[in-house]
Amino acid sequence: EQLSNQIAAGEVIERPASVVKELVENAIDAKATQIDVGIEDAGLKTMTISDNGLGIPKAQVALAFLPHTTSKISNRDDLFRVKSLGFRGEALASIAAVAKVTMLTATEAGLGTQIELAGGKVLDQKRQSSRRGTYVAVKDLFYNTPARLKYVKSVNTELSHIADIINRLALAHPNIAVTFANNHNILLKTSGSGDLLRTITEIYSIGVGRQMIEVTGADLDFKLSGFVSLPKLTRANRNFVSLFINGRYIKNYALTRALIAGYGSKLMVGRYPLAVLNLTMDPFLVDVNVHPTKQEVRLSKEDELSQLVTTNIQQVLGAQNL
Ligand code: ADP
Ligand code: MG
Repeated sequence: EQLSNQIAAGEVIERPASVVKELVENAIDAKATQIDVGIEDAGLKTMTISDNGLGIPKAQVALAFLPHTTSKISNRDDLFRVKSLGFRGEALASIAAVAKVTMLTATEAGLGTQIELAGGKVLDQKRQSSRRGTYVAVKDLFYNTPARLKYVKSVNTELSHIADIINRLALAHPNIAVTFANNHNILLKTSGSGDLLRTITEIYSIGVGRQMIEVTGADLDFKLSGFVSLPKLTRANRNFVSLFINGRYIKNYALTRALIAGYGSKLMVGRYPLAVLNLTMDPFLVDVNVHPTKQEVRLSKEDELSQLVTTNIQQVLGAQNL
């Protein structure tokens, strides 16, 4: 039982950034409007995530840490129309299998539930006063899986992975105020204004705002909206491209190429734009079940969508008289 949890954990939890991703996604699923992430030593020592979302009722707190328990899928149909970010019910169990976890959660301000786990075992559960929402602290990740710990890279590498994850989640949810601090230094603070362009400037610097142009487009299957930079903004690398399908950050080589193709010769070879594109489509057109971390997706009409992306970028850039 414990071994199988650790194996499952290895698939979902590869590094500190995986923990942050899963916990922030849970906060988003819980309809939080404020999410605060604090880490120490790039997450290798501690990661804390607190949200003002729905909280977990007392009777479900311990259950939430059992493998394959999710409150987000109740029937087979749901599996095909995945709306929430989490849907496998593996994250909390996986994290608790390879770290020391404390959670304090309450469905309304007052008495909530505090639970402590380590190595997949519940050590303590008690009533504890709490605000509404959920606070999770994860310590000593991989303390009981030394082989996994060896794969964790330098503090800088892990920190940049975590920053990437948080940036993407903040961009996907401009209506959520997000803060992120490493060793108590605030690295990111979004206002939760709901305004995507403002969120982009909060993440990438104010000056970037003047360099961005809005994109909107649609065909029968797809809708496209967001902002892309003018070609002269050249400090961008591939991490500055953020593609979201139905609100979920995804990686897709063909779509990234389609975006760059829209710039044609305006963008120097090997350069990337800063781009935040929201693509919406019928969930039937996208298969998110390819990998447990759910970033790689399979698209049924990839060529059609690529064409839509390229054409729309060409149009907005063409209208700029560059
Ligand atoms: P999943 O997100 O796939 O359902 P998780 O293991 O991440 O699985 O979480 C298990 C369950 O715990 C969720 O379905 C949800 O009911 C509850 N939960 C986890 N985190 C939170 C949170 N921050 N706020 C409210 N409920 C949460
Ligand atoms: Mg989850």
